[in-house]
Amino acid sequence: MLRRLLTQLTVLITVAIFLGLFLTRFGISLFISIPLGIILQFGVYYAYITALSAFVELKNKQLENERIKEFSLQGLEVTCPCALKKKEFIPVVLNTDNKYTCNFCQKNVSVYIVPETALMTEPLALAPVPSVIPMPE
Ligand SMILES: [Zn+2]
Repeated sequence: MLRRLLTQLTVLITVAIFLGLFLTRFGISLFISIPLGIILQFGVYYAYITALSAFVELKNKQLENERIKEFSLQGLEVTCPCALKKKEFIPVVLNTDNKYTCNFCQKNVSVYIVPETALMTEPLALAPVPSVIPMPE
């Protein structure tokens, strides 16, 4: 811990001295350029940390959105069979026994998924319309 702090301080002061020596070529005194170098390094570090935390926050939001999306694909809104008949959204996984605890009556509830089939119908707009043949007069 102390060793790391000393290393960072050494790097900070070394970079500040080199920056100070560089700025003396432009007629700026070492008493001004070295503190300026230290402040500049803190500024760069602050900008780096701010950008990094913004990036991490953005990445976390993306992951959270993906998780919500995934969850919404595999969930169902079910009604508890208790007297309260409260609706809840629960995650559903097809290859396991699905159960949950009702948040209102605190009872354990099993969820059965019953697949049903139905014939698909074509929308009327796509079905061919028979042409009207005019009656002979
Ligand atoms: Zn309930």
